[in-house]
Amino acid sequence: MAAHEFTISAHELDAGGKEYTFPVRAAWMRGAFEETDVHAPDHDGVVKVRASKSAGTVIVHGRLDASVVATCGRCLSPANIAVHQQVSAVVVPSAELKAKARSSDARSSEDNDLDITPDEPDTLAFDGETVVLDNLIRDELLLAVPMIPLCREDCPGIKPFSPSDTVSPEEDTSESMPNIDPRLAPLMQIRNRMKE
Ligand SMILES: [Zn+2]
Repeated sequence: MAAHEFTISAHELDAGGKEYTFPVRAAWMRGAFEETDVHAPDHDGVVKVRASKSAGTVIVHGRLDASVVATCGRCLSPANIAVHQQVSAVVVPSAELKAKARSSDARSSEDNDLDITPDEPDTLAFDGETVVLDNLIRDELLLAVPMIPLCREDCPGIKPFSPSDTVSPEEDTSESMPNIDPRLAPLMQIRNRMKE
């Protein structure tokens, strides 16, 4: 089994909390993104968290700054996605988590209204000694990729050309060449300017 990348020893923690800074290594991302459509960037990111412990439960809260590479949904070139995410997790000993799951099963069978609380921090389990944040970091990175990643916000791709995106009114030449491939429009403008 591969060594974990983001670990916090629960023995180091108290209620006051402690700061941790981990590099989010590109090499680690390559492994973590295997079997996904997302690729690692060529540079590392960083995750900074504050972890505290009370009554055996570890609270982790912090910030993830990294980037990942997805495929542009319009033109299929690589799209760099900047990831700036809050990360927070409640990390409970595995035994307690199982007990909690059982009691919430019992509750939901009495009352079919499930408590849907999307803002609740993730609940993770740990062995009581070492908190492992690898899956949390991986999920945050992957979830940051939009449904339709874009290489840049105004990627023309197959989108119908909108002259106002790239051409100021006095330079608007679209009327004189209505059928041009929108991706070539900037080149046409340069050509027209050189003719002047
Ligand atoms: Zn694109």
